[in-house]
Amino acid sequence: DPRRTLEIRIVPYGDHQQMLLARDVSELHRLETMRRDFVGNVSHELRTPLTVLQGMSEQLGEMESLDAEDLQRPLALMDQQIGRMTRLVDDLLLLSRLETERPVVDRAALDMPRLLDEAVEEARALSGGQHGISLTADESLSIEGDEDEIRSALSNLLSNAVKYTAAGGRIDVRWFVAEGAACLAVADTGRGIPAHHIPRLTERFYRVDAGRAARDGGTGLGLAIVKHVLSRHGARLEITSEMGVGSTFTALFPIAARVSPAPDASVS
Ligand code: ADP
Repeated sequence: DPRRTLEIRIVPYGDHQQMLLARDVSELHRLETMRRDFVGNVSHELRTPLTVLQGMSEQLGEMESLDAEDLQRPLALMDQQIGRMTRLVDDLLLLSRLETERPVVDRAALDMPRLLDEAVEEARALSGGQHGISLTADESLSIEGDEDEIRSALSNLLSNAVKYTAAGGRIDVRWFVAEGAACLAVADTGRGIPAHHIPRLTERFYRVDAGRAARDGGTGLGLAIVKHVLSRHGARLEITSEMGVGSTFTALFPIAARVSPAPDASVS
């Protein structure tokens, strides 16, 4: 198998013999390559805003006199780059916490309709009225989990929908039961994702269009965070997409309990 790496050692055995020891180190190799790629990616992602900041500070240093107006543009640019680095470091810290901490033990019943309401409000603010964002939620459907983690997964899915959908597009968020699972679907009418990219989207720093995604202010870690949060909640992510039509990200959670409908809503 050309994908496997063996480590071979020859060691003395008895007085006159030698022994050949072979160890399969493919997995170690794979992890080492992943670690190296990750460090390389993080360094590169931090390098870019640092280079911009350095350029700006040099430029400012060379100017002979400065008035408030001269400062406006460079300061706005510096602020943008600092924001980018801050988001990256925050996402890295969250991801490392999600990876090292035990699965969610402190499970509490979550008020999903409220969390969804808040996430949709946040997305509307981000969109600045450029998208039609709707929410349909089954009020009786509840899951257990960690509120902060679920909040960050929702916010990543919704901010992606806003980022990758042109102005005038629609984003529909639905919370419903299907196939015995509690489903959260975020559907957009955005640019879509070529099929061969879909299986790799949740890898850290994997982007369909690197230049464009970075300009849109993404850290490249959003879907990696979503994937970790979901797996810590026993949930999985399904992604479907059609180019030029849109994408749907669906998280399928195990159902914790169904709250019985309010008396006035029941029909006998
Ligand atoms: P980023 O910070 O780059 O958005 P993510 O991990 O959140 O990082 O997403 C990874 C990549 O997946 C994005 O760069 C983008 O190419 C693609 N992507 C994510 N969500 C969508 C979407 N709703 N529509 C189209 N492409 C998307």
